[in-house]
Amino acid sequence: MRRLTEGARRLGLVITAEQLQQFHCYQRVLLDWNRRTNLTAITQPRDIEEFHFLDALTVALAIPGAVKGGGSLIDVGTGAGFPGLPLKVCFPAMNVTLVEATAKKVRFLEHVVDALGLSGVTVWAGRAEALAHSPDLRERFDVVVARALAPLRALAELTLPFCKVGGVGVFPKKGDVRQELAEADQAVRELGGSRPEVRAVPEEVLGGQRALVLVGKATPTPLRYPRRPGIPEKRPL
Ligand code: SAH
Repeated sequence: MRRLTEGARRLGLVITAEQLQQFHCYQRVLLDWNRRTNLTAITQPRDIEEFHFLDALTVALAIPGAVKGGGSLIDVGTGAGFPGLPLKVCFPAMNVTLVEATAKKVRFLEHVVDALGLSGVTVWAGRAEALAHSPDLRERFDVVVARALAPLRALAELTLPFCKVGGVGVFPKKGDVRQELAEADQAVRELGGSRPEVRAVPEEVLGGQRALVLVGKATPTPLRYPRRPGIPEKRPL
């Protein structure tokens, strides 16, 4: 996994032999399950390494050190575990919660967490719109992340309710994000978010046009959000 270790180094991360073994195991299990169930469109080992593992690790650029060392992170719409699980492998002291609506993906997640021997990972089956109203999960997390879930305008409603005031949402995005940010302006404010900040991912990691959109949680999210399942995307704020 030279691309992964080299890319991680460029992100300022050192991957230990044990972590490398966990990434190998994760890749093996993902390839194996993906033959039977459709978990991800990315199926080539080298693509898993780059577009799942390394891409997930770029999020580390925006996670505060104290959170890496024992804070809490929730990944909403994690699919086969991205970006939450590679971050957990890299920062084993961090408490990671994964939210996923599709049952077969949840089964995979439970299996792979076990296969990697990870502790401090909690998997929730269900929709963010419902789970974000549970007292166990609402405004409980230092960092909320989500990749490829929705445009920021809807994403804010699906994710910011999980985030503590003073915490941050980190959303990896590709391409020009200006339009997406402009469209999300009002929704982010309504949900208690601060003005989004864009942090570019250094080009030498995965090529150009990759950025992290950071949204600080400034004030509590009004209790009426998120609205019913499907509404945040159908009728974005
Ligand atoms: N984050 C992963 C998967 C992206 S696909 C990655 O980047 O590879 C989006 C995933 O979110 C799917 O697995 C889908 O089942 C899940 N999802 C979509 N809407 C959701 C919602 N409202 N609540 C929870 N999960 C959701």
